[in-house]
Amino acid sequence: MFVSDALNINEKGHLTIGGLDTIDIAEEFGTPCYVFDENQIRDNCRAFVSSIDENYDGKGLVCYASKAFCCKEMCRICDEERMGLDVVSGGELFTAIKAGFPMGKVIFHGNNKTKDELLMAVQNNVGRIIVDNFTELEMLEDIAAEKNIKVPVLLRIKPGIEVHTHEFIRTGQIDSKFGFALETGEAMDAVKHTLNTKHLELRGLHCHIGSQVFEIDPFKLAGSVMAKFIRQIRDETGVEMQELNLGGGFGIKYLTTDNPEKFYEYVRCVSVVLKRSCEEYGIKLPFVLFEPGRSIVGAEGITLYTAGVVKKIPGIRTYVSIDGGMADNPRYILYQAQHEIMCANKAGWEKDCIITLAGKCCESGDLIAENSPIQRIEVGDIIAVLSTGAYNYSMSSNYNRLPRPAAVMVKDGVAREIIKRETYLDLIRNDI
Ligand SMILES: *Cc1c(COP(=O)(O)O)cnc(C)c1O
Repeated sequence: MFVSDALNINEKGHLTIGGLDTIDIAEEFGTPCYVFDENQIRDNCRAFVSSIDENYDGKGLVCYASKAFCCKEMCRICDEERMGLDVVSGGELFTAIKAGFPMGKVIFHGNNKTKDELLMAVQNNVGRIIVDNFTELEMLEDIAAEKNIKVPVLLRIKPGIEVHTHEFIRTGQIDSKFGFALETGEAMDAVKHTLNTKHLELRGLHCHIGSQVFEIDPFKLAGSVMAKFIRQIRDETGVEMQELNLGGGFGIKYLTTDNPEKFYEYVRCVSVVLKRSCEEYGIKLPFVLFEPGRSIVGAEGITLYTAGVVKKIPGIRTYVSIDGGMADNPRYILYQAQHEIMCANKAGWEKDCIITLAGKCCESGDLIAENSPIQRIEVGDIIAVLSTGAYNYSMSSNYNRLPRPAAVMVKDGVAREIIKRETYLDLIRNDI
């Protein structure tokens, strides 16, 4: 019935997460507030990690794409769950360093890494740098040469695969700012160039076809396209790539009608195709990496808000405004993303009203849900927006000088803050 097993309804008719009453959480920590269920997050990590054990004899690494929700506690959880970490900026890398994350299991992404970021990655012995373009190849070679060390790299390839998802989160096609194109020969040039450098150790290849992808077929296709390319590389250079990173992008439930595959099913299906392709092309099965982000945290987090003004426009629609909005959840204004909404203190009631849930920011597009069913709302009700675990906190801003909400983790009946609510003083800390 719910988008996540973390959620339920208790005897008071209140929404619960991880067994705790969301109304109690809202009272203790205030609203708006992000709330996550740690056991569900860990279950998702384990589903991926164990599928590597089962399908690849453990010869692989699942790297949590931290951009989905990055904070020190998430880094610590991923470490405990035997995962690696995918970072895309100096700031995410810094978070991992401060959380004590093992740097050998960090992979560093980005289509425009700065020299300082590359230096930081090299100085901290990041396990793999995923090189996106020729400028970066040269910059990294210079850095490595100066230090007279070898830096392990993968090359990001655009495999030319189109997926059915929002165009802003499609990344495998030739018209993308990410990576080296396969079709044009650019990818092969990049491989040869890297093999000719003295200080870059080419471990293998990477591709990531997009995000919130429901179909399995594009992932399978990516596996076979990349296996074929590994064979071509061997034919042309005599060198066989040892690692293949197939990215993330597995779809999750935003609406109860969404029906994504189980994660282990993705990994299993891809492994079948990859093994068959490797046999067909006569190459060794590479060490496999995955980078799930959304699928680790997305459905396991919710946001709690307090309902304020209810504005009925006869014959048009009813706006319910909340004490947050696009500053803490920009997904609607970015992609018209849809989220399930509910009244947390009336969760047992029928959803017999249709409302548009609006934020408090000074933008007409500042909406969280449009024409969505919900229980009858009065001022002071607690509204829960579901599946906000990914790309909410991490995309949040201080627009209108709204302090960022707290993030609360629930585990075994206990709720604890993992990110403090920002204060007004935080907002002016860097003002001069
Ligand atoms: C965003 C991204 C991911 C994670 O995508 P999800 O949809 O959150 O699983 C993984 N790898 C790369 C390179 C990405 O850009």
